[in-house]
Amino acid sequence: MTHPVIFLGAGPGDPELLTLKGRRLLDEADVIVYAGSLVNPALLVGVSAEIHDSAGMTLDEVLAVLIAAQRAGKKAVRLHTGDPALYGAIREQMQRLDREGIGYEVVPGVSSAFAAAAALKAELTVPEITQTVIFTRIGGRTPVPEQEALRNLAAIKASMCIFLSVGMIEKVVAELTAGGYPENTSAAVVEKASWPEQRIVRGTLADIAEKVKASAICKTAMILVGQALSDEAAAASRLYDAGFSHGCRGLQRLAAE
Ligand code: SAH
Repeated sequence: MTHPVIFLGAGPGDPELLTLKGRRLLDEADVIVYAGSLVNPALLVGVSAEIHDSAGMTLDEVLAVLIAAQRAGKKAVRLHTGDPALYGAIREQMQRLDREGIGYEVVPGVSSAFAAAAALKAELTVPEITQTVIFTRIGGRTPVPEQEALRNLAAIKASMCIFLSVGMIEKVVAELTAGGYPENTSAAVVEKASWPEQRIVRGTLADIAEKVKASAICKTAMILVGQALSDEAAAASRLYDAGFSHGCRGLQRLAAE
């Protein structure tokens, strides 16, 4: 009997933010390949699987381990940080498995974007401020298509979760302000969201770069930007709650009458 290779979202760090399904799959696994630089090793305490850290492995090496395990009838798990659908580089791995005729499944996880929002106690979609969230990054070694440059996305004035970019915070701020976000737009950086050593830096586009530099945060951090993070947004949200007659509730009441 063969088992599909599982691409599993590890969540942002806190082992309790792994799904129940993820916990079971790790406990049952024979082979686990995990992204050692980002996945909390506490997730792997007590598992009986053979463990590989992909940090020092090439894509070919990772695939060789997964393919050999699957062909030997073993349960193989590829453990990715957060949710595998965001910046997980799972597509190239799945394409290779397709070519080899090997089945796989993807099991979601809690993205660090949501762990960061939770740390800030923020709602990213505040009525009358924004109903849109953009997941993005600044171009670095991995290029970003020109139409998605931060300065273009800034024009939308949605909430933004900016991955993989804190090391270039000054450029992020310059792009966002050039694109039309006012300097008083709220911004926050959450380092290692949900880990015991989590740190939060709050500010606005006017001062966030300086504050981040002073904190020496340079990796494993999420940048959140947008007016939804501001105190006014919190106030607007409460007002809206009180005055809002919900369409469905109205209809239900009518139906009951
Ligand atoms: N698939 C992951 C993202 C992988 S890309 C997810 O859904 O979270 C790696 C980037 O994610 C990091 O550069 C950082 O921006 C962010 N990240 C990952 N874990 C984080 C954490 N615990 N706290 C804050 N940001 C984190």
